[in-house]
Amino acid sequence: MRAPFGLLTVLVSLLPASVLAQRLPTIVTPEHYDLAFAVDLAHARFEGTETIRVTVAEPTPRIVLNAAEIQFDEVTIGRGAAAQHAAVALDAANQTATFTVPKPLDRGPTEVHVRYTGVLNDELRGFYLSKGRGRNYAVTQFESTDARRAFPSFDEPAFKATYAVTLTIDRGDTAISNGKVVSDTPGPGATRHTVKFAPTPRMSAYLVAMAVGDFQCLEGASDNIPIRICATPDKKNLGRIALDSAQQILRFYNQYFATKYPFGKLDVLAVPDFAAGAMENTAAIFYREADLLADTKSASVETRKNIASILAHEMAHQWFGDLVTMAWWDDIWLNEGFATWMANKPLAAAHADWNVAVDESGETQKALGVDSLRSTRPIHADVSTPAQIDEAFDAIAYEKGAAVLRMVEHYVGSETFRKGINAYLEAHAYKNAASEDFWKAISASSGKPVERILPTFVNQPGVPLIEVSDLSCNAGRTEAQVTFAQSRFVLGAAQASGRWQVPVCVTGDRVAAETSCHLLTEPRQTVRVASGCPSWIFANAGAFGYYRTAYTPSMLAEMAPHIEGELTPAERLSLIDDEWALMRAGRHDVTSYLTIVTGLAKEHAAGILEDVGAQLRFVHDYLTTASSAAKLEAYVRSVFQPLMREVGFTPSASESDDRRALRAAVVQLLGNAGNDPDVIAQARTALARSLGRGTGPAALEPTLASAVTAVAASHGDAALFDALVEATQRAASPEDRSRYQAAVTRFQDPALVDRGLQLALTPQIRSQDTALFLAGFLNNPAARPRAWSFVKDRWPQLEPKLKIVGADTTLTSSLGSFCDAASRADTVAFFAGHPMPGATRTLEQTLERIDNCIALRESQMPAVERWLASR
Ligand SMILES: [Zn+2]
Repeated sequence: MRAPFGLLTVLVSLLPASVLAQRLPTIVTPEHYDLAFAVDLAHARFEGTETIRVTVAEPTPRIVLNAAEIQFDEVTIGRGAAAQHAAVALDAANQTATFTVPKPLDRGPTEVHVRYTGVLNDELRGFYLSKGRGRNYAVTQFESTDARRAFPSFDEPAFKATYAVTLTIDRGDTAISNGKVVSDTPGPGATRHTVKFAPTPRMSAYLVAMAVGDFQCLEGASDNIPIRICATPDKKNLGRIALDSAQQILRFYNQYFATKYPFGKLDVLAVPDFAAGAMENTAAIFYREADLLADTKSASVETRKNIASILAHEMAHQWFGDLVTMAWWDDIWLNEGFATWMANKPLAAAHADWNVAVDESGETQKALGVDSLRSTRPIHADVSTPAQIDEAFDAIAYEKGAAVLRMVEHYVGSETFRKGINAYLEAHAYKNAASEDFWKAISASSGKPVERILPTFVNQPGVPLIEVSDLSCNAGRTEAQVTFAQSRFVLGAAQASGRWQVPVCVTGDRVAAETSCHLLTEPRQTVRVASGCPSWIFANAGAFGYYRTAYTPSMLAEMAPHIEGELTPAERLSLIDDEWALMRAGRHDVTSYLTIVTGLAKEHAAGILEDVGAQLRFVHDYLTTASSAAKLEAYVRSVFQPLMREVGFTPSASESDDRRALRAAVVQLLGNAGNDPDVIAQARTALARSLGRGTGPAALEPTLASAVTAVAASHGDAALFDALVEATQRAASPEDRSRYQAAVTRFQDPALVDRGLQLALTPQIRSQDTALFLAGFLNNPAARPRAWSFVKDRWPQLEPKLKIVGADTTLTSSLGSFCDAASRADTVAFFAGHPMPGATRTLEQTLERIDNCIALRESQMPAVERWLASR
């Protein structure tokens, strides 16, 4: 799945014991499901007929499985004349049904027959109703624990079985499921037809998929695997970029993996309402429209990258997740960390000018940010309830999982790592695996102590800080040594302990490649790092390490002249973000960070300037006074205006993707943190023209469009607001629609903020987008207090939309932009009265971020003021 989420600890102790123990018994296990659904789109309901072939391990009168919101009509167990009627007992809290028969079932195979009815709900989970262009669709989203809403099931990942699906639907509609269509026959009745799908391979229940409606598809193929990109009829032709990407990605994976794509066909479907970004159902990947569909002629680099990246993630899941599945949700990183790590490979192979290495370094930074809080969690963490499971889909599972894999891959070598990956996949194909299985496989393929390294990163929380000191040479200047010390890095004043086995890889002056990696196992170790006498070293070669690095001031000074020319963009990003984090942790003064920024006047990596832009915006919004804010803006302009003059506002036709991305980053940086009047004026003119105002319409350069729209809206008036709201309604492509919708949240005028917020109560903002829309206002300093009042006042109307999976954590984390004690207290009080069980850990992290910000403001605001005054 692709969606940012966050985990639950506090509530656990308050729940009754039965909720904690809500795992199914293992006496009865499923082998095969025959599932037939008669779908009634008009009345938002369905009738289900189910036969489950099961194996009984010891004689029992009872079968316990999962069911929720299902109305049972009849249950029988057994074959032919021996079939017995079963009594059904429901446990709503544990989402189980218990079938009990008079005569105990014998050991061995038997069958469970169920007739039932269910609802197509409006909660974007289970089997649900989606609406687009005046008609209804039925779609599934089962991960993590919602297959049980569509059919009674052994709804845990370790109960793998095969599934044969049949759908009876209206005559004008089509259906998509995991298998290929094996028959499509008219009836029953004149207005219906019945579509039968081939049985699936053995897989977990959460991977079953069904979609019903008037979908239309673009068709292609790769390595003889048919690939279709499907959407509602009006958007069919927006699937072209996705089809090209999917074909390239499948070819790449078929070369990388020893096991070729095993599921016969691949359908990828965009649906009008979808809670996550996308879902990796076996051979039937489902999506929200904005993440899959775009206009070939006008898509930005960012959008083309996003489409390829999410596709590569979901397609990687066909191996990591669908073929080999974690035994329980406590190892969800075996799905999500692996898909996130793998997804970058086909992108880097096909698009050299996308600078994927910088994106990888950025992903690592995202994980390090969350993992530097005391309220973080280990990658492997206990989870029991559906709310706990959903909240485990967070940056720790995705980005930390991926970062740790990259570190180990770099340490053992990519070919060796690939051999270990393939051995792991082959050993567990169509079965389940746990973390230990993985690190044993890599230890075996590499002969290196991976089974000692990985548990220190997977089973304990937090980030190692590597302090580098005492670089010195021997008397003959033929070799050098350096001292590394490790401790746990946390933001704020708190201390926390931890000890890792860290592969520290070194680059720099005279560092020979073969001596570059060192396994740091002790709190403090001195190692030999170079064959000559280097003047400087950089202790995170390739930025593959999952740690923060701190150098002594003299070592940093020696490195400074080499940063621009000799470190890679990914390494520069890690150095800048480490310096930012050391300031946030109170270890360094803000002025050493600003000194590094001053040296970035020639930086050409868009990914770096985006991060720096966000950091400078933070300094602007939280660490300055009214008078020093203007000085900071002038400083930002003085550093980055030369870059703006170099790239210019108007691109030439032959420019590369990275040049276009660079311009967008500079416009964003100068327009926001720099408050640059020229950039703002150009952005306003360009946006007004593109919306048909002023001197005739002219389309925005696609890659510049987001930056221009955001900067113009931040300084926009009522006329621009009206034009953007209108443009949102008539936007033909999901990309345009998302961009305009996001811009509506950026205005500063209180009257426009209020009008924007009101839209959240209208159908114009879909449930799937509501949390993100509100988060836009909460991240806008001028709108924040009004937005929070609005959320609290309108909670009864907003709550259903904010409790869909992922929306709860999106909203809660956006409150981390508060930086004062009163707002913190208000946040605590509000959620005490309006609990969000799926965002419990996220709330802890949000409060910790607010505390950190308050402390930082006190300690660094005077330093910023002094530094700016002295320039
Ligand atoms: Zn995923």
